[in-house]
Amino acid sequence: MNEKSAYAAVPDASGHFGVYGGRYVPETLVEPLEELAKEFEKAQKDPAFQHELLEMRRDFTGRPTPLYFAERITEHCGGAKIYLKREDLLHTGAHKINNALGQVILARRMGKKRIIAETGAGQHGVATATMAARYGMECIIYMGEEDMRRQSINVTRMRLLGAKVVAVTAGQKTLKEAVNEAMRDWVTNVRTTHYVLGTAYGAHPYPYMVREFHRVMGEEARAQLMLREEKLPDVVCACVGGGSNAIGIFYAFLNDESVRLVGVEAGGEGIQPGKHAARFQGGKLGVLQGSKSFLLQNADGQIESTHSVSAGLDYAAVGPEHCHLREIGRAEYTYATDDEALDAFSKLGTIEGILPALETAHGVAYAMKEAPKMKKDQIILVNLSGRGDKDVNEAAKFLLKD
Ligand SMILES: *Cc1c(COP(=O)(O)O)cnc(C)c1O
Repeated sequence: MNEKSAYAAVPDASGHFGVYGGRYVPETLVEPLEELAKEFEKAQKDPAFQHELLEMRRDFTGRPTPLYFAERITEHCGGAKIYLKREDLLHTGAHKINNALGQVILARRMGKKRIIAETGAGQHGVATATMAARYGMECIIYMGEEDMRRQSINVTRMRLLGAKVVAVTAGQKTLKEAVNEAMRDWVTNVRTTHYVLGTAYGAHPYPYMVREFHRVMGEEARAQLMLREEKLPDVVCACVGGGSNAIGIFYAFLNDESVRLVGVEAGGEGIQPGKHAARFQGGKLGVLQGSKSFLLQNADGQIESTHSVSAGLDYAAVGPEHCHLREIGRAEYTYATDDEALDAFSKLGTIEGILPALETAHGVAYAMKEAPKMKKDQIILVNLSGRGDKDVNEAAKFLLKD
């Protein structure tokens, strides 16, 4: 990062991105989080850590991922060129493993023996179970019962990888409750256990650390596009759940003022309370699970229920760095509805031969809407955060009528 950049300074020492982020946790977690922040900083400067990360990215997870010019979808939309950063081709099928790999190597350095994580769509659980198996560590994954039903293939994958999957039956039985259970476990077992948080959210240093493990996506994509087109993209877009795949692809472009950065949230069945998960549409400032950010809450400050066809975007809060980027006007946030995401899922499959994750399809939907309004020599880069294997049954219910 350029030292003069307005963006290089975040987060500050207390983990704030502007007014967002921070560390709102029970007393018992303050010291472990401080230790984690310190150990992460040390690891970042340690050539041995960086070397292991680099080798494992290359040989185990499959980096660099390709940058693909989606020629047929581009033709179909009839405007800007659509490029896809193929994170769907990574081992285990989504960008999540960039972060799980980094955190599990870090946990091992810290002498932890036990790995826990929460998961929504199951992709983060599978990525974490995979890395725990690779490094010979015990692994427990907390998952809402409703998500276990929607994502049963991933539950089976985690179990086959040797992880224990604990069903969470509180509340809405989705991601928020799974995070609560994982935090409860961590408070109790913090001496032996590392909590691999799965997105750019939570108490400091998580949003910062998770971004650092994911920013390789944007760095690669920027270099790949410069090589191929000899210019920057006009738009970079990505779906936003907690915000890890979006911040990972945005980060390399923050100082490129000509590049529009667009995050796409889950519009669900439309922007009415309980029907969506678009925090920047109906949300307000609040604190949830360790961080200050935009939350979907009612007038009493109770967390509102959320809905999305994609379990991985179905969460009431959004990462603090996105709140900050929006506030300073560097990134914009919009949404795609369930129907728009399903349509994009179908089009990318039948026209381009790629079935994206339903989460990812929200970003694709935006690109397909925006491309026709742009010139043919302009470029949209979409972060193709994951593949759709886990979603085929859910998608078939809507898309295959016989
Ligand atoms: C988990 C997931 C997301 C949403 O999480 P972010 O942290 O916002 O990236 C998006 N796409 C895929 C494929 C996922 O598995």
